[in-house]
Amino acid sequence: MTQPPAGPVRLRAEWLVPVASPPVSDGALLIGADGRIAACGPASAVPLPPGVPGVDLGRAALIPGLVNAHTHLELTGLAGRVLEEDFSRWIRGVRELKAGLGAEWFAGAARQGVRDAFQAGITMVLDTGDSGAVLPALVEMGGAGVVFQEVFGPDPSSCHDSLTALEARLDTLAGLASDRVRLGVSPHAPYTVSGPLYHATAALARRRGLPCAVHLAESAAETALVTRHEGPFAAAWAGRGIPPLAAHDDSGPEARRSPVAWLDAHGVLGPDTLCIHVVQADDEDLATLAARGAAVAHCPLSNRRHGHGAARPKAMVAAGIRLGLGTDSVVSVDRLDLFAEMRAARTLLGSTAAEVLALATRGGAALAGLPGRLGTLETGVWGDVVAVDLPESSAPGAPEEWIVASALAAVRATWASGRPVYRRSDAA
Ligand SMILES: [Zn+2]
Repeated sequence: MTQPPAGPVRLRAEWLVPVASPPVSDGALLIGADGRIAACGPASAVPLPPGVPGVDLGRAALIPGLVNAHTHLELTGLAGRVLEEDFSRWIRGVRELKAGLGAEWFAGAARQGVRDAFQAGITMVLDTGDSGAVLPALVEMGGAGVVFQEVFGPDPSSCHDSLTALEARLDTLAGLASDRVRLGVSPHAPYTVSGPLYHATAALARRRGLPCAVHLAESAAETALVTRHEGPFAAAWAGRGIPPLAAHDDSGPEARRSPVAWLDAHGVLGPDTLCIHVVQADDEDLATLAARGAAVAHCPLSNRRHGHGAARPKAMVAAGIRLGLGTDSVVSVDRLDLFAEMRAARTLLGSTAAEVLALATRGGAALAGLPGRLGTLETGVWGDVVAVDLPESSAPGAPEEWIVASALAAVRATWASGRPVYRRSDAA
């Protein structure tokens, strides 16, 4: 797929919402040929150099490209395909569904996933998957983010084989990464990864300088497995001939056995670790995450869909934990709607619309560790911009209120590093 060239382009709209600074009425921004923002502010102060196309979006707000802090874009197209209510059976359903799909299918799903993200105003994703299809799709189509290569292996005897296969996949993918797309690793979850494999993967990530993402403290079933060595995941392991966790739990008798403590004991938690979900976590767990500098991808609607209960983002912020906002896969939530996630997170956080918009932009972008800046609209930052329609008749008020209240269909157009990557069909 060939992309139109990046910038230069000048965009103007009734509102500019830079996130890094207060909203500007009648704002504009100029994206240079290098794909980065060259000027940004009141329209009267942003030049239109000769030969540069100017786009006047009228009744719209220009906001930074949204950052989805947790996706599985390789599962695009599978919405509604696994309907099990019990979480351990749902996980097994997803695994069985994926086992029947080939590399070509995943490549198509990844590309469609990137298109769907652009249509939803998302230009950056922190994505986990094991097909290896998302990284090349994201690079080729002009998105940004981190692609965490998954590794599985609940049986300690398979640790060496799992690690060897992971290293080979990383060797291939490392050469495809770009200055906007970074490679990472993801030892999937405490119910799919053995203690030795956690140790080995964490060491590998440190050795290669790769960030790490883990599904952590998501379900009561996961807590039952780690804390008491029982429950549906323990039964599923027994059914597959996998030794019980008790056989390789080397923490002492007095050790805390929460999922967070379990990962901490295996050296997984650090400043470059993204912990996904974190519902089953008490204050001591949050203090551990804060002390390690680990970040959290908060996924309120996925947590609700699976009946995991609500995470405690307010307590996380109070503990000093960095947060991003994620959707999870379409198998969990049907569609990548960060506007709906912002509304759900706002209720849990008790925050303003501006604060929750910052979480879905600058907050997520800060977790990626990319060399170039994203998540705000200011000079020098990548030109990732979304035009969101404002309602025809609106009472005066902060534009962030209207943005957070928006339906997905309010996204009129999206640019990634100055490239137009989505335009709604009815938009001029
Ligand atoms: Zn997930």
